[in-house]
Amino acid sequence: MESSSLHHRDVRRIREIVLSWGKKNYQEYPWRDPDRKWHGLAAEILLQRTRAQNVVPVYAEFVDRFPEPEDLGRATEEEILDVIGSLGLHWRAPLLKKLGQELTGKESIPHTLDGLKELPGVGTYVGSAWLTFHAEKRSVLVDSNIVRWICRLLGREYDGETRREGWVRNLLDRLTPEDQHQTFNYALLDFTMNVCQPTRPLCEECPIGAEFCEHGRERLASD
Ligand code: SF4
Repeated sequence: MESSSLHHRDVRRIREIVLSWGKKNYQEYPWRDPDRKWHGLAAEILLQRTRAQNVVPVYAEFVDRFPEPEDLGRATEEEILDVIGSLGLHWRAPLLKKLGQELTGKESIPHTLDGLKELPGVGTYVGSAWLTFHAEKRSVLVDSNIVRWICRLLGREYDGETRREGWVRNLLDRLTPEDQHQTFNYALLDFTMNVCQPTRPLCEECPIGAEFCEHGRERLASD
């Protein structure tokens, strides 16, 4: 039977390894500035299903063209697409316009997941990412890269629906620390993008490696 959990000793050790890796390999993306509140929220929408490197120049122009929510709310969808169109997923343009309209005149962005999810374009992932990165509120992140990583750790099969399985969030909840959740979550995003990559995970140089990872153990044993 496939395992869906880890011993608490392994949870603690894997958390420490991810935190340590994250501190040494933090990626300086411009939207990670914690003071960029509403731009940080818009960036999370731009980052969905999109490579971070591609978002970098688009985000710079976005901030330049739409310094305040009202600038975004007043823009036409064509004007928004002119900035973000190169990223594809054009359905984001009307959502961003509505987000700008919704945030216009508001003193602050909601600090609860339920409140955030009432905003256009904000679902569980975007809301959770904003809370941990811009509101200093612990949140558990579940995205496709992170799900792939956790399934590899346990030697489990995964597909596009695995993220909805309860054990995934439960295990990530156990792994996410109370006090360094922001460092941990940034580390997870960077680690699963750059080390535990989609097609060729770098198991040979991975600090988790064969000791804690079923998939890594198999790969390293077969090399
Ligand atoms: Fe990913 Fe390989 Fe590291 Fe496991 S050992 S976490 S599969 S890179």
